[in-house]
Amino acid sequence: MADPPPDAEPDRVVSFRVVWEDDNNNIRVQRGWRVQNNNAIGPYKGGIRFHPSVTESVLKFLAFEQTFKNALTGLPMGGGKGGANFNPKGKSDNEVMRFCQSFMTELFRHIGADVDVPAGDIGVGGREIGYMFGQYKRITNQFTGVLTGKGLEYGGSLIRTEATGYGAVYFLENMLKTRGQDLAGKRALISGSGNVATHAAEKVTQLGGKVLTLSDSEGFIHDPEGITQEKIDWVKAHKTKRRGRISEYADEYTGATYHAGKRPWGVECDVALPCATQNELLGEDARALVGNGCMAVSEGANMPTDLDGVHVFKEAQILFAPGKAANAGGVAVSGLEMSQNSARMSWKEAELQQLLKDIMDGIHERASAYGRVSDSYIDYVKGANIAGFKKVADAMLAYGVV
Ligand code: NDP
Repeated sequence: MADPPPDAEPDRVVSFRVVWEDDNNNIRVQRGWRVQNNNAIGPYKGGIRFHPSVTESVLKFLAFEQTFKNALTGLPMGGGKGGANFNPKGKSDNEVMRFCQSFMTELFRHIGADVDVPAGDIGVGGREIGYMFGQYKRITNQFTGVLTGKGLEYGGSLIRTEATGYGAVYFLENMLKTRGQDLAGKRALISGSGNVATHAAEKVTQLGGKVLTLSDSEGFIHDPEGITQEKIDWVKAHKTKRRGRISEYADEYTGATYHAGKRPWGVECDVALPCATQNELLGEDARALVGNGCMAVSEGANMPTDLDGVHVFKEAQILFAPGKAANAGGVAVSGLEMSQNSARMSWKEAELQQLLKDIMDGIHERASAYGRVSDSYIDYVKGANIAGFKKVADAMLAYGVV
């Protein structure tokens, strides 16, 4: 078999045992990983995912994508990703805390503010980051910007929580603008009901669009009246404070329906934002979207559209933004959190909102420059891949054989 291309090999994959005790005094063991893919342009940077579906292979593709996404932001960040096959669902706060502490008790020796700076991802939100940062600080006796997505009281940045979802919608707006359109009055399908999905829904609503769907891994809800800010706030509290399921939305709001075991892509819409997980929008879903007149898709999640689906969107020449461009707002504000931590200061919300918007505009510009196929069509997949790759490759070439 031929050797893999040298730039597709991660710099390092750390795999470790995570042992913890549940509330019934059972000793449980999980596997944890950190994939340090490439640090040619800055410290390794990328989220930590806690989900039963996490494997080394999943983290390797995520770390690979992350490298080019981070390069696209224009900020000095390399690429990495980590996680564990731990399922936080149904666990008590104390169980999650003990797991996070054990995970960090191994991870701490591989990360650092100038080495590798993890953040949240699926199953890792403010609560988990707090537990992990606390343990890092306890073990090392150092207060440094070693994780991003921290609470505002201990070094976090304003708008980090909102940044991925908001950024995906800013990118969508930029794409619509190339066809003389905006979000006002547009019907949007969103999948997921976590951090990225709820904040994407919030921004679509603020910009005059109407959000029709949200989902989780068990099914989706369809609300023809539109998911208003008040309803989004209910979903946020339901998912984070009560750790509830999206099915309960249909009990709470009359007119909404719940579709167990299904994804939202068959509902008629103008734009779609897949914001749950990888491979959640397949070829047949893409054909349904295009057939129903969907004009733009902006990926809030990482690689939610499978290869078949990407081909369908490209052939139909609809506006299609791959996650590495569209969801880069989160890691961009994480980069700004790192800068604020290093300088021991914090920027105001308005400044950060403007910086996020400028960064998303810049990513759109870079992806367009390399992706323009004709006067009427930009291939954002090609554009984002080339723009991200070029920066990393140029740095690697400068270093010689290392
Ligand atoms: P959350 O854990 O907050 O939410 C994840 C959502 O996706 C939940 O609604 C979850 O449903 C659903 N989901 C998870 N696994 C599956 C599955 N196998 N099938 C269907 N639905 C699923 O995660 P985030 O919102 O942070 O992340 C969502 C996506 O965005 C991921 O792809 C992540 O990598 C990407 N991303 C996140 C960033 C961030 O800043 N948070 C930055 C850039 C990308 P359930 O509750 O049933 O599991």
